[in-house]
Amino acid sequence: MSALSHPIFQDADKARRWLESHLWANGVVCGYCGCVDNATAMASRPGLYQCNAKECRKQFTVTVGTLFERSHIPLNKWLLAAFLICSSKKGISAHQMHRLLGITYKSAWFMMHRVREAMREGKFPGPMGGEGKIIEADETWIGGKEKNKHVGKRNKRNIGGMGKEAAFALVERGGKVRSFHVPEVTGKTLGPILSAQLHQKSSLMTDEGGQYYHAGKKFARHETINHSADEYVRGDAHTNTTEGYFSILKRGIIGTYHHVSQQHLKRYLAEFDFRYNERAALGVDDKERSERLLKGIVGKRLTYRSTNERHA
Ligand SMILES: [Zn+2]
Repeated sequence: MSALSHPIFQDADKARRWLESHLWANGVVCGYCGCVDNATAMASRPGLYQCNAKECRKQFTVTVGTLFERSHIPLNKWLLAAFLICSSKKGISAHQMHRLLGITYKSAWFMMHRVREAMREGKFPGPMGGEGKIIEADETWIGGKEKNKHVGKRNKRNIGGMGKEAAFALVERGGKVRSFHVPEVTGKTLGPILSAQLHQKSSLMTDEGGQYYHAGKKFARHETINHSADEYVRGDAHTNTTEGYFSILKRGIIGTYHHVSQQHLKRYLAEFDFRYNERAALGVDDKERSERLLKGIVGKRLTYRSTNERHA
């Protein structure tokens, strides 16, 4: 619990200065016009700046353009919420967040979705894999069975295994994950994702599902494992890494979030992807880890505004 006593989680002013030092390492940046080192600090309020660019002249603080913008919740609580989400392997519920931060459940729920939104990769940095790299692709179903729901809440078209949402994940062995909420599991939905996200020189590992048949031909190598014939590993051909990722995802969604609506699934996937992809930050001490994680979501990741534009 030592990380939680970090001053940036206790004090709004320290949180602001921390954010300034990370986002403005090369000088104060105007959140409106983007000009650097061309603003005057206002005496009226610490953290308030006026842009000196002729065509701008706006007043701003470090939160303009970030996911913390226009919020009545103190910045230290925002940083703590982001840290807790980043560091809880199975996720953290809005109820827990509401109690830990001493804010309403509604505020906690809202903050968590904003943080998840910031965790989404707006645009992936390029294809995964490459020559000599192994990518595992697999899909899973998320959500409760219709027969377990209250009669009044059942969707009559969805009896049986239906009523679940499909998640599709690509994992590079020893590397990162990218997962997607897909409307159905077919070559038509998965093929374009494989083509767009994977380097053609990669080796692709999948199960024997027909949805991979055509797409698989585009890669240097495509090995399939015949799960229905009880085959799980053949040489380096297996999808155990992806299955490991899905088991963390499912334990989190079932154990912490209980239910995830179709509308929000992509955000939960982003949350679990983010933690998996930042796992390299493990092994450093709590303070350093919290800073790395926060930098990850505040700095190199998107700001709230760019997120909105991209996914509008
Ligand atoms: Zn400006």
